[in-house]
Amino acid sequence: MFATLSDRLAETFKNLRGKGRLSEADIDATAREIRIALLEADVALPVVKDFVAAVKERARGEEVSGALNPAQQVVKIVNDELVTILGGETRRLRYAKTGPTVIMLAGLQGAGKTTLAAKLALWLKEQGKSPLLVACDLQRPNAVQQLQVNGDKVGVPVFAPEAGNGVGDPIGVARASIEEAKRKLYDVVVVDTAGRLGVDSEMMAQAVGIRDAVQPDEVLFVVDAMIGQDALTTAQAFLDGVGYDGVVLTKLDGDARGGAALSIRQVTGRPVMFASSGEKMTDFDVFHPDRMASRILD
Ligand code: GDP
Repeated sequence: MFATLSDRLAETFKNLRGKGRLSEADIDATAREIRIALLEADVALPVVKDFVAAVKERARGEEVSGALNPAQQVVKIVNDELVTILGGETRRLRYAKTGPTVIMLAGLQGAGKTTLAAKLALWLKEQGKSPLLVACDLQRPNAVQQLQVNGDKVGVPVFAPEAGNGVGDPIGVARASIEEAKRKLYDVVVVDTAGRLGVDSEMMAQAVGIRDAVQPDEVLFVVDAMIGQDALTTAQAFLDGVGYDGVVLTKLDGDARGGAALSIRQVTGRPVMFASSGEKMTDFDVFHPDRMASRILD
């Protein structure tokens, strides 16, 4: 992801090399190229507009610094603005002060929730936590089994409806899982929920039901970064329908243009907290805006 954007920006910066001081025309030309690069990368228009305006303003106001030449200054400005649109600081997970921390995952079918649930559980284990995975996706055939397979892979138990008991009642399963976690002293509960191929009101109502039943400390919206601008529409629908505290980007290893990943923070006002970048359980990490910006500008 971001390969084209990286190349485009590198090209733009190359044109500034060797310049003594940037003229108004240089700044305008650079801003134009950055605008095109971002639009081609599928970044949402309002985000592009703000981004380019900020870069222009700062490039104009920049003092001639002894340490950086004008080209380097522009790179630094673009880097800073990328970090800003990506959310600035890393947003850490908030753990409950007492009792198990409840993390609920929401998102469309195929977004990567079930995979992500297990990855997150592994990461939590590595943080010294004792997680419990909860299978509340009773819609997609095999979702429960898939979570169990993934749970086994990462050595984390899965709370799932027993056949004939609670089947078809994800809210009941969710509620029971919290009791189980309290009884068996699991300290983080990760609740996987059902998605659909598109946003629909029944799915939203079910997610709301689960949310109300488990009172999550964090609701995380899981979104496939490969689906481009659709990611933003879906993000908005889940924000209105269920609400969430943070975003998890999946499939960052894909070759899509990456604009959704760059726009989602500004469009939703919610921080990206984790990123998933492959099918292996370890292809997962806390999202660091500064590292992502450096990767784009590498
Ligand atoms: P769910 O329907 O939201 O639970 O989605 P799944 O967890 O079943 O994931 C859908 C597909 O995407 C599966 O084939 C996963 O292996 C794949 N997948 C999930 N996360 C990633 C990722 O970060 N990168 C890649 N390349 N594939 C992923």
